[in-house]
Amino acid sequence: MKKSLSIAFVIVSFLLGTAVGFSQQRSASFTTEKLAENVYLVKGGLANTGFIVGESVTAIDAQMTAGDAEKMIAEIKKTTSKPITRVILTHSDGDHVNGITGFPKGLEIISSNGAKEEMAKEFKAPNAQDYFPTRTFAEKLELGTGPDKIQLSHFGPAHTSGDIVVFLPAHKLAFVGDPVFIGRDPLIHRHKGGSSAGVVKTLKALLNLDVDRFVPGHGDVLTKADIEGAMKNLEDRQQKVKQLINEGKSLDEVKQAFGIKDGPPGGMRFPSLVEVIYLEFSGKK
Ligand SMILES: [Zn+2]
Repeated sequence: MKKSLSIAFVIVSFLLGTAVGFSQQRSASFTTEKLAENVYLVKGGLANTGFIVGESVTAIDAQMTAGDAEKMIAEIKKTTSKPITRVILTHSDGDHVNGITGFPKGLEIISSNGAKEEMAKEFKAPNAQDYFPTRTFAEKLELGTGPDKIQLSHFGPAHTSGDIVVFLPAHKLAFVGDPVFIGRDPLIHRHKGGSSAGVVKTLKALLNLDVDRFVPGHGDVLTKADIEGAMKNLEDRQQKVKQLINEGKSLDEVKQAFGIKDGPPGGMRFPSLVEVIYLEFSGKK
């Protein structure tokens, strides 16, 4: 891919986020669902977001646009009068991050090291400099104590290079971002260092947590069985693609075997899961 084209790709991915990959339905109305004492899921916009009420409010992810972030903040204010002091970003994708400019300046913004590096390349809002993560970590970061404990873990590159899981041990609950999608192929950003092997590793790590309910970046709250099913589907697909690679099949032949048709040439698209797996295991770029 030429450099200019790859930059265009990154900009388009940044602007449209998940919208391109999945024709994700944007939900205009915002609603709040109580998941546990002091823990809430906000549905609306392009991606799930959440918040935790402690001495102050910790938001989880920031929506796609400042306008949607304002709607999310309005939901928080319906639930508590405590101030929002912190935002945790599960990963760097635009549909989870770009709305951060709708939050007040000066908040603590937490992400993994990898997500901050990706944001440095992609997050180009006019006032972006006021909204980069202020606190980052490599593998683990623990916040709060007792029932308010929040454990952040980065289990390695998966959907992107910098995905983190927000685990609330007192509630057996985790906000997991985008390594798991139900009912459709997971989106894996190779251009951000994501890989299918990494997604499997992260899903295994999720299954090892003492968690009953997993809040994905998109869709409904999931159980362990859902995560197991998603992992099995992904491993099956890896197995089938590897077999075709061993038989010496080209990428086009593998795509054909799975009935995958790309859009018209020149259009921007996210590569299919099969293509991601092929490139990953054939060692091709
Ligand atoms: Zn997403």
